[in-house]
Amino acid sequence: MAQLLDGKAVAKVLKEEIREEIVQWKEKGIRPKLAVILVGDDPASVVYARSKQKVSESLGMAFELFVMSGSTPEAEVLAQIEKLNQDQNVHGIMIELPLPKGIAKEKIMAAVRPDKDVDGVHPINRGYILSGEEGLFPATPQSCIELLIRSGVQIAGKHVVIVGRGETVGKPLVFLILKHNATVTICHSKTPDLGAFTRQADIVIAAVGRAKLIKKDMIKQGAIVVDAGINETPEGICGDVDFEAVKEVADLISPVPGGVGSLTTALIMRNVLKGIVLQGGKR
Ligand code: NAP
Repeated sequence: MAQLLDGKAVAKVLKEEIREEIVQWKEKGIRPKLAVILVGDDPASVVYARSKQKVSESLGMAFELFVMSGSTPEAEVLAQIEKLNQDQNVHGIMIELPLPKGIAKEKIMAAVRPDKDVDGVHPINRGYILSGEEGLFPATPQSCIELLIRSGVQIAGKHVVIVGRGETVGKPLVFLILKHNATVTICHSKTPDLGAFTRQADIVIAAVGRAKLIKKDMIKQGAIVVDAGINETPEGICGDVDFEAVKEVADLISPVPGGVGSLTTALIMRNVLKGIVLQGGKR
């Protein structure tokens, strides 16, 4: 029976480290601050923004939420971003997605200063993932890696099969996990016989958005399974992995909830602190 990759326990340690680093920045006269822009009233985005506020404040980080109505013209959103880009007291900027119709997501993403782009969506940060330069990278792929490393898993030399090549999780994860010297296979909706690939994996990472897609017979005995999926079902939130069945063959498995998702907000906060350094702050 598999042991849990316990996201809540890892998040607790991570938050403690972030709290300590915030204290150190404050001693140097810098008060780390995250600004979040929420355009419209998408219910999930409201919850995510409030959760970031709660975590920021609990860690001692300053936080400001800019709520703009769903009918705000794109130019006004861009002007607000530019104000925050210029504000030396703001170290991280995040735009909650999805944006209302009529606002071009790509234009908005590219308007945030790359060294304040704590969501890791600016084209320059996307490029840095490929080049290996220091930049700000998306939280969820980082969560998958942190969860493994901090649970004592050695990634180097392992065959990692990533299911999903989405812009938010799968695609950036490919290059971030390559840096840890894994051998990487990427599967997607056009992969014939998905199980033939996942059965070869030492580590399977699912980032699809299909409830319980990964079944027991798709996992090698003793493999490690990381589930980044979040799916709403009539029975509640579940991942992309058939957890109850797969835990019988895996050595380690992350639950949903309580796995990858538990780390993501903390990793956005860690990006704010990395942003301070990229903006010229001396540790
Ligand atoms: P996405 O952009 O929709 O990408 C989904 C990927 O899954 C695509 O590459 C798609 O293939 C692939 N796929 C779809 N059906 C498949 C199938 N039957 N077999 C194999 N691959 C299949 O998703 P995303 O934004 O990257 O997010 C992925 C998951 O992570 C979602 O469940 C999302 O809710 C979750 N997520 C979690 C967090 C967190 O904090 N834990 C944060 C963000 C996202 P094609 O490319 O061929 O279409």
